[in-house]
Amino acid sequence: MPELPEVETVARQLEPELEGHRIESLEVLDQRWSRPIPPQAMGSAVGGRTIEGLGRRGKYLLLSLDGGQTLVMHLRMTGNLVLVEGEDVLDPSEGRRLYEAERSASARHLRARFTLDDGRELWFTDPRRFGEAFLIDDADLEARFAGRVGVEPLSPEFTAEALGAMAAGRTAPLKSFLLDQSGVAGVGNIYADEALYRARLHPLSPAGSMKLEHLQALRDAIVVALEKGIDHGGSSIDDYRDGRGEKGTMQNEFLVHTREGRPCPSCGGEIVRIVVGGRSTYFCPSCQVKLRKRPRRRKR
Ligand SMILES: [Zn+2]
Repeated sequence: MPELPEVETVARQLEPELEGHRIESLEVLDQRWSRPIPPQAMGSAVGGRTIEGLGRRGKYLLLSLDGGQTLVMHLRMTGNLVLVEGEDVLDPSEGRRLYEAERSASARHLRARFTLDDGRELWFTDPRRFGEAFLIDDADLEARFAGRVGVEPLSPEFTAEALGAMAAGRTAPLKSFLLDQSGVAGVGNIYADEALYRARLHPLSPAGSMKLEHLQALRDAIVVALEKGIDHGGSSIDDYRDGRGEKGTMQNEFLVHTREGRPCPSCGGEIVRIVVGGRSTYFCPSCQVKLRKRPRRRKR
């Protein structure tokens, strides 16, 4: 499931390819993708517009269009946004060049197809069909995200103090706290595990139990884990492919995520898997400290 580093990778790769190009047409092949807007209406609203940029907010892709509107896309579980050039078609599910027969197989998962002014196509493919898109006035964008998409962890606003304000009074386990998009935007299951390991914090610690030293460690760990993910072009555990249809390599760099039973890179002990809030969670029971809700009173 794409998280901040995966979405950021797609945006950084595709923005220079798309910027300044006119969208000749948008064909919506799955009404779920644009609902409640009918495919035809979405097509005519976006067709003919010029792309001014491709950005990211949380796990959302923001395709800026002329006329002061943005097409907001979310990849959800298995969505991919891939640039396809003429006959040089990449299979988004395999990261390899397609032969004629395979092209139709990949097209089965095609949900929306943008045709650009130079003949290239941008494909939104999505086997599980949870991905979605909506068109919004730029002026309404922040209001739309308010309360749902929190602070950007790679922005200067993301400080230990800001993290402390979010965590104050929260009894939710740290793992669940990090997955809540209204707090820290863009962190998902993978990077939450990696960040908590780097910060040496147990995933079941109550969020509100962090002291300033823990907040500082977690803030720094989140930034390092996300930047490492971006440096490696994201993680391709399942369906994720980048804007060119290629796999990321971050899955080869995981410290704990998906590494159940393997040695902790720090102490050599076994990495353990538990389930927190329905999500697989990997950590080192020796290195990651479980914080108490209230600090124990010290004995004299
Ligand atoms: Zn360890």
